[in-house]
Amino acid sequence: MSILKVSNLKKHYPVKKGFSTIQLVKALDGVSFELEEGKTLGIVGESGCGKSTLAKVLLGLERPTEGEIHFNQKITTSIPIKERQQTLQMIFQDPYSSLNPRKKAWQIIAEPLAINSSKSRLDLHDEAAKMMEVVGLRRNMADRYPHMFSGGQRQRLGVARALMLHPKILICDEPVSALDVSIQAQVINLLMDLQDEMKLTYLFISHDLGVVNHLSDYLLVMYLGKIVEYGPRAEVMDNPKHPYTKALLKSSPSLQSKRLDIAPLTGELPSPLNPPSGCSFHKRCPIAIAECATKSPSTKTVGNSQVACDLI
Ligand code: SF4
Repeated sequence: MSILKVSNLKKHYPVKKGFSTIQLVKALDGVSFELEEGKTLGIVGESGCGKSTLAKVLLGLERPTEGEIHFNQKITTSIPIKERQQTLQMIFQDPYSSLNPRKKAWQIIAEPLAINSSKSRLDLHDEAAKMMEVVGLRRNMADRYPHMFSGGQRQRLGVARALMLHPKILICDEPVSALDVSIQAQVINLLMDLQDEMKLTYLFISHDLGVVNHLSDYLLVMYLGKIVEYGPRAEVMDNPKHPYTKALLKSSPSLQSKRLDIAPLTGELPSPLNPPSGCSFHKRCPIAIAECATKSPSTKTVGNSQVACDLI
């Protein structure tokens, strides 16, 4: 049974163009997927592909233009905001800028609980200190300020804060990309241990296919607001079908994808303000044909994956 179901999710931003024309930037354009409890969905793509907009819409920070989100079979529009926050929390990319430098560690960690309960200061301190131990920090560090922690420890503070309301789903937005490689492994191992212990479900957003490959059960590849490939991790990594997925894998220095018969990704992601006609990948696609410039590809099932390419 899926804990999270996203159906035809769209987020279009109106942008003024000239005096009277309004143009739509389609940051998300018909995104659908499902995720079972305790699993990890890796979401990959270049910056500007819609990954962060998806996170904001799931968190309820942005209203979708169209589409539905269900948590545990319940549509999110019928879930009170408090309950929604208890279901889904987020770990941010930059552990330093996301922590208030004027607050002590326990205050930062306890903040979601302080907002959502009437617990005393003493109880909040105690619960925050306990959560610090869960994420591998000593409870006697609770009265320190963020600058007194290392980068990896600060990310642990961010994880502790995200867990304070005991959410079922965690959105991890590039949670290790600001950390040294040696520290990245520690934080990833912590996230994997917590997932086992607490049966957490992760949406793991990253541009690093190596990290995503290590953690994910399923992979979702996005390009200009759309899913181009979505399927079980092993199938997508070992037998990618969409030309964009293949080119991304070929471009990843941390992966051995030399056997793929495709050139690495070239050129920039087109501006979402002026997306290409037809298949939005056609200007960078090494196997595009003339028709790709005029016709949007349909999504088809290949093996256990969904692939949006008409030449597959
Ligand atoms: Fe490439 Fe055409 Fe497939 Fe788009 S539809 S990915 S341009 S081959």
